[in-house]
Amino acid sequence: MTTDICAPEPIPLYRPMVEAEEVSAGSAALAAGWLGMGRTVMAFEEAVHGAIGGGSRAVVAVSTGHAALHLAMLTTGAGPGSEVIVPAFTHLADVQAIIATGAEPVFCDIDPLTLCIDLDRAAELIGPATRALVLMDYGPHLCDHTAAAALAEERGVRIVHDAAHAFGSAYQGRPVGSFSDVCVFSFDPVKALTAIDAGIVVVRDEIEMHRLRHLRLLGSDQPVEAIYRNEKTWDYDAVDIGYRYHLSNVHAAVGLAQIGKVDQIRAARQAACRRYQERLKTVDGVQLPPSDFDEVNPFLYYVRVDPAVRDDLREHLADRGIGTGIHWRPAHLHTRFREFRQGPLHVTEQVGEEIISLPLHSDMSAEVVDRVCDEMAAYFRGRVRPWAEYPGVDCSAASAG
Ligand SMILES: *Cc1c(COP(=O)(O)O)cnc(C)c1O
Repeated sequence: MTTDICAPEPIPLYRPMVEAEEVSAGSAALAAGWLGMGRTVMAFEEAVHGAIGGGSRAVVAVSTGHAALHLAMLTTGAGPGSEVIVPAFTHLADVQAIIATGAEPVFCDIDPLTLCIDLDRAAELIGPATRALVLMDYGPHLCDHTAAAALAEERGVRIVHDAAHAFGSAYQGRPVGSFSDVCVFSFDPVKALTAIDAGIVVVRDEIEMHRLRHLRLLGSDQPVEAIYRNEKTWDYDAVDIGYRYHLSNVHAAVGLAQIGKVDQIRAARQAACRRYQERLKTVDGVQLPPSDFDEVNPFLYYVRVDPAVRDDLREHLADRGIGTGIHWRPAHLHTRFREFRQGPLHVTEQVGEEIISLPLHSDMSAEVVDRVCDEMAAYFRGRVRPWAEYPGVDCSAASAG
């Protein structure tokens, strides 16, 4: 990247929106004299419960999204000798969470438009060892949760809904987190809402909730009533296996401040995505995500381009201070994961070569979006093979949304 003192401000791929509320909430938690899990974690769990519409679901906060996924997998009974079906187009955390239980991942292909799991393919992969099916909502897209629930019910498998991209989104009017078998959120440093780092597991009932409270605290039965008063007891017993997965009050305080702004964050991210769609729809060579962004709180904004130009485009943008990302290199192509069972993965492999994430922040001005779009347009002007000539992609979706 060239350094030029007159160059405009760099535009990173991600930028956490940390404002006065987060700073003062974090400082107050630091000054409170109880840094570990306590009162503020309870308040954070209650805020998440409220944000997903309350109801009978139970919410358990843990240290990361990956920890939440690991506990979610254990809740389904996944373990040695069993399999969990997971889209190959996903975050490493899903795959590692399955492996951490002793179960094996089985890689499934995705839908070419929503980039979420292809349920017909998933149905073909379900076998006697299958314990659960992972549904991951990708960027602005939500899985077909109605059909997935019907499939899981019919075949007797459980669902782990990885909603790391979807806190604050709704599916057919219902808040994400309120309807899935087991649902997981992440509040890591780059997600739409952050707690610096935190994860949430949402389960159906109190029995599952009590078990998760043990699992997150080294399997111990320390009474949560005391912990949630910022107190510790010493007469505890290890009643289960467990992990050191609990959350600190300081992280919870930052997360709480962010949840207070979820409506503002959603509106800002929707506006930025819609501006991208509007400005990029005339750029030849770019396939847009088929979404109107209406019900979602988008974590990322992606486009698809001809794989032959992707690296060059990323370099062009990087040279102009614009960060991009790849979400993701498909899971089954990672060295350690090659041994696992998989179905046909043609769509995953194609999309893995086309996809590129553009900058998306919760406080992104129209001017900043326009700068990215102008550079995209400048790159493609005159140099691109039109999509119609690129054999790998169905262009019918390019104008949707
Ligand atoms: C970020 C992310 C995770 C992992 O969450 P962490 O809080 O970073 O551990 C899992 N799944 C998806 C889809 C993610 O984007």
